[in-house]
Amino acid sequence: MDAGPGTRGSGLVKANVVVLPGDGVGPEVVNAALSVLATVCDAADARVSIDVHLIGGRAIDEFGMPLPEETLEACKAADAILLGAVGGPAWDHLRGEQRCEAGLLRLRRELDVFANLRPVKVHPHLADRTTLRTEVIRGTDLVIVRELTGGAYFGQPRGRTGSGPDEIARDSIVYSASEIERVARVAFKLAQSRRGELISIDKANVLITSQLWREVVSGLAADYPDVTLTHELVDSFAMRLVREPATVDVVVAENLFGDILSDEAAVLAGSLGLLPSASLGATDQGLYEPIHGSAPSLAGRGIANPYGTILSVAMLLRHSLHRSDLAAAIESAVDVCITEDVLTSDLGGTASTDAVAGAVAREALRHLGVHSGAAS
Ligand code: NAD
Repeated sequence: MDAGPGTRGSGLVKANVVVLPGDGVGPEVVNAALSVLATVCDAADARVSIDVHLIGGRAIDEFGMPLPEETLEACKAADAILLGAVGGPAWDHLRGEQRCEAGLLRLRRELDVFANLRPVKVHPHLADRTTLRTEVIRGTDLVIVRELTGGAYFGQPRGRTGSGPDEIARDSIVYSASEIERVARVAFKLAQSRRGELISIDKANVLITSQLWREVVSGLAADYPDVTLTHELVDSFAMRLVREPATVDVVVAENLFGDILSDEAAVLAGSLGLLPSASLGATDQGLYEPIHGSAPSLAGRGIANPYGTILSVAMLLRHSLHRSDLAAAIESAVDVCITEDVLTSDLGGTASTDAVAGAVAREALRHLGVHSGAAS
């Protein structure tokens, strides 16, 4: 793996990964994940160049905006983007387009990554580390497909008017049939590659957008006869998710419902720090990030859990770089390391961020059949 800008060398096309470390623990978990990526790529002679750019609070400090144009342009030209997390107390007072989150939302929208895949798998070794009973969560292996570029986070009109008791705040949930169809097709195809069960989430008893959502998703079912489609209301599904999560395979939900349900699902795994995500669009390009935020209280201490970011790198290798072999090596390595109690403090362990990355890199090499002391 070559560090630094540039995408070509020696006549061979390299994959170009733009890295956005962001704020708080973002740079720490991203560095840990990049060391794993470098190890497996070097071992497999895979050519990947790394191009680092600013986003979020550090971009505001440097450029006065959370998503500088040069960052956006670099991301648009990349094969894949790896993001840490954005935000923190230093920027909490900012409003509107100046907020760190506004930069992230704009990036997702500009890249048109409309399908956010959030896998949640309960590792048997961690089944007793959550607040739920072991017998409830054992065997949980589900994916939430969250619509990412529509709904209440983007709908117009939105804003505040008036003042005092007459002040009005407004958000709008807006969906077109085509926006629903494209994310639903991603979920149907994913269900085909898994246990063949798709749950579509809505609030069709109340919301008009949910009624369109249900109609469009139902209309697609005939194209996927090997998938069993069911519809559930978001409120009752939120209960099912903690009552019998092991019965859930693939879930598709609009942006706001998917955001809330996927954070709820994170509880099942034992820590927010464990979970990866991939945001995909119509092309192979993708935006990969752990689902957690910048965890300001952990920043700079070298103790943040890097597994979510490392597993995001595995998703990047599989979806954008078409290296399922390297992705599988990383995923197997993570499995082994968790079994062997290589855990950070959020999971009751004592391992540092870098120690986890070193252990995963060594184990991944073993899975690739490389027996060397190269990884540290
Ligand atoms: P958070 O995800 O940062 O933290 C929630 C809890 O999980 C905290 O207890 C934290 O210590 C813990 N945690 C998170 N990541 C961890 C890790 N890798 N290892 C161990 N523990 C971890 O969410 P928050 O506290 O609500 O938000 C903090 C900041 O992050 C805010 O500024 C928020 O806006 C931002 N945020 C950013 C994103 C993103 O960049 N995608 C997502 C959520 C929140």
